[in-house]
Formats: sequence, structure tokens, C-alpha cells
Amino acid sequence: MRRFHGASTIRRWRCVGAAVMRTGRRSSSSFLAPRGLQSSAAVAAKERESAASLPSRREKAWLAMAAEQSLRESLAEKQAAVDRQGEAVRELKSRSGASTAEIEAAVEALKALKVEHGALAKQLQAVVGSSGNGALSKEEFRQTVVNTLERRLFYTPSFKIYGGVAGLYDYGPNGCAIKTNVLSFWRQHFVLEENMLEVDCPCVTPEIVLQASGHVDKFTDLMVKDEKTGTCHRADHLIKDFCKEKLEKDLTLTTEKAAELKHVIAVLDDLSAEELGAKIKEYGITAPDTKNPLSDPYPFNLMFDTSIGPTGLLRGFMRPETAQGIFVNFRDLYYYNGNKLPFAAAQIGQAFRNEISPRQGLLRVREFTLAEIEHFVDPEDKSHPKFSEVAELEFLMFPKEDQLAGHSAKKMVLGKAVSQGTVNNETLGYFIGRVFLFLTELGIDKERLRFRQHLPNEMAHYAADCWDAEIECSFGWIECVGIADRSAYDLRAHTEKSGIQLVAHEKFAEPREVEKLVIAPSKKELGLAFKGNQKMVVQALEAMKESEALELKAALESKGEAEFLVCTLGKSVTITKNMVSINVEKKKEHQREFTPSVIEPSFGIGRIIYCLYEHSFYTRPSKAENEQLNVFSFSPLVAPKKCTVLPLVKNEVFDGVAKSISRSLTKAGISNIIDITGTSIGKRYARTDEIGVPFAVTVDSTTSVTVRERDSRHQIRVNVDEVAAVVKDLADGLATWADVMWKYPAHTATSADD
Ligand code: AMP
Repeated sequence: MRRFHGASTIRRWRCVGAAVMRTGRRSSSSFLAPRGLQSSAAVAAKERESAASLPSRREKAWLAMAAEQSLRESLAEKQAAVDRQGEAVRELKSRSGASTAEIEAAVEALKALKVEHGALAKQLQAVVGSSGNGALSKEEFRQTVVNTLERRLFYTPSFKIYGGVAGLYDYGPNGCAIKTNVLSFWRQHFVLEENMLEVDCPCVTPEIVLQASGHVDKFTDLMVKDEKTGTCHRADHLIKDFCKEKLEKDLTLTTEKAAELKHVIAVLDDLSAEELGAKIKEYGITAPDTKNPLSDPYPFNLMFDTSIGPTGLLRGFMRPETAQGIFVNFRDLYYYNGNKLPFAAAQIGQAFRNEISPRQGLLRVREFTLAEIEHFVDPEDKSHPKFSEVAELEFLMFPKEDQLAGHSAKKMVLGKAVSQGTVNNETLGYFIGRVFLFLTELGIDKERLRFRQHLPNEMAHYAADCWDAEIECSFGWIECVGIADRSAYDLRAHTEKSGIQLVAHEKFAEPREVEKLVIAPSKKELGLAFKGNQKMVVQALEAMKESEALELKAALESKGEAEFLVCTLGKSVTITKNMVSINVEKKKEHQREFTPSVIEPSFGIGRIIYCLYEHSFYTRPSKAENEQLNVFSFSPLVAPKKCTVLPLVKNEVFDGVAKSISRSLTKAGISNIIDITGTSIGKRYARTDEIGVPFAVTVDSTTSVTVRERDSRHQIRVNVDEVAAVVKDLADGLATWADVMWKYPAHTATSADD
């Protein structure tokens, strides 16, 4: 979430879960195709059977944690035994009466203990450094995924031929297609479903807007500098790296020390500059490359500065988020919505952050796509009419109390989390549920998705409650969506700075008598005194908070005049008694005026896509080539192309049929590729699997063809003139693979895959 409030709470991105980090190749149960693609009832039954007998990911994580703890304890005991035996050997050797046989026996015992120690150390190393299934390490797994992504042009470092720039990436054809699919599902799932008002505002933003929002002063991360070379590092990252490395590599750590380091990682976001500085000193952390001493942490503003127009006088910034564009348009959007609340506005667009030390590929970049929703609601009524639709959902939640107590995330029913007050209100809960559905429908593994509540210091002082959707990948738990109840902060801040009332009204059935502070600027007197600036002074007077107005009233009554700051003029002006009347009056009110609260789900699209890549990736052996083949098990919703068309062998007649099928698919709106290269059919299947195409049509006759499903590799036979319709139904989710398996004959020839 945006964090740029007091000195202690800055915007910082988290990757908390080193403690329970566990990824790598998906376990065999999760290798199965998405539900819609299951090849037959038998496959589904097998899945159920294996799901019942295998521990869940959470259970596995818990088992791994327990194993780690017991291994650390055993290792410490074994180390003590080795030390004792070593001492015994030394003592024997120095004793004059000891026989050779006695010494040899003691040395043998020492050797045996050392072997046992080595075996335990190896086991511990495997538990803390593995991907969770004992096959590939996290790094090996990530490297395989990233190599595939770069080789198949999902994404590549930008400006590569000039050496590239850290934190800037290009999306290639496959990456672009996936991003388009994710964004169009986002529009479907949120904008269309909730009738949101979509806007598209500029990236270049004038300074005044970002001054009002607080970004100019406080949109910072804490940085430390190498005292000799001046190289910059993020303070929290250095501490996290230190703790992770210790946990993974230092096998002599006691259980207590390991628990302490895990706790530091868990509460890193909650630490102030002073606390981070103290930890760096306590752990003796130095600059990673040079080992030079580090400066104390200090804030670095992450916005890219620019100037607007040729004079250079109008300062601007590249927007660090899209939300401000929506807030400054609130008045028009509210009017457009018939002056009714609640309503939501949405925006998809680029955001820019000059990250201190970008790393971790697509996860931390300097320009990225954000999709943000600002749902405006009456602060006195945060119920949601559709909450019941998500109330039954059950998923991993990580309330702040559990984090502080060192517990793990636990499964909670959303309705219960809201009713017992863990989640502040129904509207916030509704969006948490909708985000869960969005991510899991895309293909994020629900066992590696959790909703983590912000810790007290991490949350802005004005916010009512904040939860981050975190997805676990080989880098740990990554914040991919922030969901915050930001109360009325943003609209108030822009009201104050612009002088424009960004408020809503509730009409009463019956008028109500209330005591009200009435601020009545005298336009005539103000016009005489301030001429062309009169309008801005009037707006600033009318936008005063009650406390400010009472203060001004007191000053005018005692001194007859007062200095008054008009932000839009950038200076103070002198206000005299005759220019404004401020009184508390009894009034009959027909409506109530208030600043709406805003609930903001904010989606980092690149992060979601990267996690989706990891969650969808697996390898399978190629019998023919004796190698591992890469597969992305994207659902048809996400896949960059829905179908590949391939003639079985190079032949003009088959090529013609393939081209005609490809044309019918395109006409039906199904993206497809045609592969008429002479390469073996097995290699061509491997090529399409590697970019995650769910279906392949193989032309082996002029009347009927086969349709192959990527994950099961099962094939059916379909008439040429029907095939486009069959693939369209599959790609649009109107038919499952099981449905078409019932309807069409299976093609049982020895699989070309082999
Ligand atoms: P924030 O406004 O900091 O809460 O960020 C909103 C969302 O943007 C986060 O949940 C992330 O998914 C994403 N995000 C933030 N910073 C970056 C970055 N440097 N690179 C990629 N995505 C980011």
C-alpha cells in the first residue's frame, strides 16, 4: 500500500516469508490441468485421490518448519557431542598411560560422530534451501522459469543492446498477450461486474497534486550508502538478506537465534529508521560488494522529477500511482453518477518509482502497470449489498496479532473475519473476497495466496484497515495487491489544497435542526482587496476545517485582522473582520454533507503475472530425447494463444487444411498460431507447450483432425468443419475437456509427444 506518513512509516515493499519460503516445481498433484481441462473422469478421480492422500501445501510448510526446528536442535546436540569427543581424544593423546587401541577407538568414535553431524547438516540444508519437493532448489527453479520466459520472449531487459537499465523490462509478444488477457479479465471481473467508472489520466502530474497527496514530502524508502563508494542500498533489504542468508547457510544457529531472525524478517515493515539502523549495527551488516561500513538509514523520495513545458517553471513528476487522477476527478465522477454513493472509479495505467536497488526481475521495477479501484462510500455505512456472495469463501488470512505473535497464516471464513471485527468492514471484506476470486480464477494457487493485515506502524495513521494479497513464489511472499480502507484522507487533502469541495450529500427524509458553523466570505470586500485572486481566497476560506475557522474567528474578534495561508496562491494574505463572517448558527438541514471514505484495491499487474508464471510452470520428461520439457499450464483465459495448428507431416495438402482451420479460428475470435515448419511433431508440441498454448489441432487427414489438450496430452478426433467451433467452446470456457472427451472419439495412436 501507499505508505508515506510519519517518519516511522514509509512506503516499503515486503517479501516477508523467507521463514516459510517453499516453491520450486509444483508437486505432482498440482501438475494437473486446470479443472476445465481435465481429460476424463479418471483424471479427476485420480486428482481427488491424490489430494486426499497428500498433505496440503500448508501442512507441508508446517511439516518443513517442524523438521527444520528439530534438525537444528539435533545438529546442536551433535555438535556438542563432536566437541566432547574431540576433547576426549585430545585428553587421551596427552595422557601418558593411554594405549594406542584406546586412542584409535576414540578417534573412530569422533569420525563416526562427524559423519552423523555431516548427514544432519545436509538434511537441514535441504530443508532450508529446497524448493519444497526435494527436486530443484528455489534458485534452480527460478532460473529455469526465467530462462524460458526470456527465451520465448515473454519479457526481456529493456535497452539490452546498450547494456540495459536496472528495473526496466520489455514485454515481448507472449508477455503482451498475457498482460492483455489479465487486464481484460480484470475489467470483466471488477469494472463490468460493479459498474465502475473507468478513467484514463496522464502520467505526468503537476507538483501541487502530489504535494496535496503527501508524495512530495513522504513517498520515500529508507536508504543506506556505502560510506566509501557511495553505492546506495535499501536498508530493510540488507537486513532481510542478512537474516535469510544466516538462516539458510549458518547451520550452527541455535533454535532461538533462528526464531529471532525469522521474527525480524516478519516485522521488518514495522521498523523505524532508527530501529533499522540499530539492527544494521547489531548484526554488523556492511555493504554487500565492498564490505565497507554503511551510513545510517535516511529517506529517499522515489518519484521521478520532471518539468512541464519549455520554461522549466512548472515542476512535475511521473505519477507513482494512478489513484490521484481519480481523486482529483471526484466531483465530476460523483455528478456523473447522479450524486449517489457508493460508486467506484477505476484506472489502469503506468506508474513510475525510482526504486533504490531494483532486483528480482519483474517484481521490483521502475515502471509498471497498476490497476486501481477507488470505491467511495459513506463513512457511516460501510456495508456492502453483495457481501453475502463472498462471505462463505475460506482462505489463508494473516491478521496482525498472529504476525506479532510469530504464528503462521490460518484459513478463515471471510464472513466470520468481518463479523468478529478482524476485517474492519463489509466493503473492505467484499473486495478481499473479490480479489481472492480474481487471482485464483487467473490460476494463482490458493495455497500460495494469503491476505496479510498491515502491522500497526506499517499502516497510515488515517487508514481504518489494510490487507495485502501476498503470493508466494521463489522469492518468498510478495505483495501483489494492496486493499486499504483509506478513510477520507485523499479527498480531504485535495479539498484543502485545491479549495474545491470534494464532498457528497445525503438528503434527509425530514429536515433536521443542527448547530452549524457558517463561513460566509464577503465577496465584495474580498474582491476590493484581492482583485483577480478573490476567487482563490474565497475558496480557501470556505474549505477551512472547523478548528481553523474557529481560530480565525477568535483572531479577527481580538485583533481585527489575521494572516491566512492560501495554498493555491502559495502565500499568506491579511484577512480583516469585514471580509468574512464566521458564526455558529442553528439551522434546519435538509441534507448532510460529508467527505466520503475510500476503499482502494491496488493491483501490481507485473507482479501478479510473474507469480502466475511460477505457479503455472512445470517440467515433464521427454521419453524420446531424455530431457525435461517445460510447460506453462495457463488456463485458456490467460494463455497467450488459445490454439496451435500443425500439419502432422510436411505436405502441401495438410498445409492447406491447416491454413483453412487457422482462418476459421481467427474468424471465430480465437487467437492461434500455425506451425508448418518441417520439425518433428513432438518438437512442435514441446514448442507450443512451452508457451502454454492449451490446445493443438493436428492435421493428419483432409476430413478429420485431432485436438490435443496440453497437460493430459490426450487427443480427440473431430471433423474438419467442426473443429473451430469445438476449440472456441473450449477456449471460451463453454465446454470442458471432459465434455468434449465424452462427445468425440479419443485418438489413441501412440502419442506423438513420445
Ligand atoms: P503500493 O501503492 O506501494 O501499495 O503499490 C501497489 C501495488 O503496486 C503493490 O501491491 C505491488 O503489486 C505494485 N508495486 C509496487 N511497487 C512496485 C514495483 N517497484 N515494481 C512492480 N510492482 C510494484
